[in-house]
Amino acid sequence: MSEDLNSPDAAKPKTSFGFAPVGEDAKQGLVNEVFAKVARSYDLMNDLMSGGLHRLWKSDLVSWLAPPKGAVPYALLDVAGGTGDVALRVLEASGPRSSAVICDISAEMIAVGRARAASEGERLSFVRGNAEALPFAKASFDAYTVAFGMRNLTCLEVALAEAFRVLKPGGRFLCLEFSSVEVPLLDTLYDAYSFNAIPVLGGLVAGDSASYQYLVESIRRFPDQKSFTRLIENAGFERVRYRNLTGGIAALHSAWRL
Ligand code: SAM
Repeated sequence: MSEDLNSPDAAKPKTSFGFAPVGEDAKQGLVNEVFAKVARSYDLMNDLMSGGLHRLWKSDLVSWLAPPKGAVPYALLDVAGGTGDVALRVLEASGPRSSAVICDISAEMIAVGRARAASEGERLSFVRGNAEALPFAKASFDAYTVAFGMRNLTCLEVALAEAFRVLKPGGRFLCLEFSSVEVPLLDTLYDAYSFNAIPVLGGLVAGDSASYQYLVESIRRFPDQKSFTRLIENAGFERVRYRNLTGGIAALHSAWRL
């Protein structure tokens, strides 16, 4: 389909929603619709789709983060934290003076997270907000985590600049995200599984195959390990490193705001 260069939309900057090019002002609304629809079955679907692997990957994130176990104050911000998986794990692994804020744009995901974390008390709080305009003062947090959230954002550069802004000097950035498979054969198998099985599973369990088609497509649109490393460096972070998980199906990126 050719684009009408005279149409008012032609000049608008484009991003993508899965494989579909969309205007930057349209993407967030589409993403919000996805998470409003899948929120109630989100945790179950994660286990089913990944065969439980996402739990191991999140444990890898917490191990690499290595939050302090002693009685020192430690403030974590978990962006796009959804139903709370990462923040709850970090709190479990860290000392009594640690606290976590989950910031997510979806009221529906936050509602599921709040119900799940009811016994956490004051150490955990939820804030509705946008990763690209975080509602926090500069230098507020010791660590910033984001798991499977970056892929859904409209502008990675803006979100990374926000991550840098809210971290204290000496603060740590850790991102867990689907990435590019770097093992021959595994890439073919993974493609076949994800494009065929995941949307079907989403239809059966969440009653919504389109949202899971978006999930699979958005993974293919996300920058690979090295490109994402460069974006993180461009935001001002230092000592940027990554680790592949399960052959690169997912990757952890670590960086420091020094
Ligand atoms: N981090 C959780 C996990 O690993 O289970 C949830 C990840 S879920 C795939 C993606 C989350 O990103 C959703 O909860 C969604 O509402 C959130 N999200 C999407 N766009 C966002 C934005 N601009 N700012 C903050 N959160 C956003």
